[in-house]
Amino acid sequence: MTDAIAFIGLGNMGGPMAANLVKAGYRVKGFDLAEAARNSAAANGIELSLSVKDVVVGTGTVITMLPAGKHVLSVWSDLVPTLHAGTLLIDCSTIDVETARKVHALATENGCLTLDGPVSGGTGGAAAGTLTFMVGGSKEAFARGVPILQKMGKRIVHCGGAGSGQAAKICNNMILGVTMAGVAEAFVLAEKLGLSHQALYDVASTSSGQCWSITTYCPVPGPVPSSPANNGYKPGFAASLMLKDLRLSQEAALASGASTPLGAEAAQLYGLFEQLGHGGEDFSAIINFFRGNVKAG
Ligand code: NAD
Repeated sequence: MTDAIAFIGLGNMGGPMAANLVKAGYRVKGFDLAEAARNSAAANGIELSLSVKDVVVGTGTVITMLPAGKHVLSVWSDLVPTLHAGTLLIDCSTIDVETARKVHALATENGCLTLDGPVSGGTGGAAAGTLTFMVGGSKEAFARGVPILQKMGKRIVHCGGAGSGQAAKICNNMILGVTMAGVAEAFVLAEKLGLSHQALYDVASTSSGQCWSITTYCPVPGPVPSSPANNGYKPGFAASLMLKDLRLSQEAALASGASTPLGAEAAQLYGLFEQLGHGGEDFSAIINFFRGNVKAG
């Protein structure tokens, strides 16, 4: 077994994550379809390969950080037959639970160990090495993966078997989408009632309405100086990424028969917000939608 790691998908998240593995002393081989991602990875000490099949040669661990389930299925289907038994595959992308379980099965049938390990913490957390990993897979795979994940994150949570990391991620982000919409609505109502932002914050942040969307990510400027509202709603966490996660939660709800009416409503709201051209803004900018002052962009 070798300590070298193959990293596929060196974009906004994967690039800095792979760079942290290099800083931790690992030999990291990398592959990405985009030239810009390849160039910045090379500058961070990642050894570039020309294909998915080349990048895994001589490695014992393969990490993928790709846009969506279809990319992960395609990449894993290509590379799994070329891997030696005992190789550990970790997919850190945010994808649908069904595809996550499919790729676990595909690789374990070939004698590999597998983890789904989606993250929260955004590009800032990826650069700082402070991501939270929500991990699904066997205890054996988890034990192998933890020392590597610890070089890229500060919290590693084993959520259960195959697909459990993705399940935890979309449930958490469904809560976040719903609470942000609720908090934004409440601030708009407060404005109409002549209540100051600070007064609502002082009450709700210490009362039963308290949640992360108020205390850390307050959607109005002022009460929480570090929230994106103070910076023209520059993301942070873009509305289009929130929409992606809400849609994944609704696919999972449909497939599993769960009733999630508030998640469905939040997905619709963020869908409209994106259609109006605001997908690139931070997701807390949804407050402008409730104020009725967003324009088609
Ligand atoms: P990104 O678009 O910046 O990076 C994805 C990279 O994958 C791109 O560089 C692209 O060229 C590459 N790629 C696509 N198909 C490929 C293939 N077949 N082979 C090799 N490379 C390929 O996206 P990102 O922001 O880094 O997000 C990656 C994943 O992390 C997504 O699933 C996203 O939902 C999730 N995520 C993102 C954030 C965030 O704040 N950006 C936060 C948490 C989770």
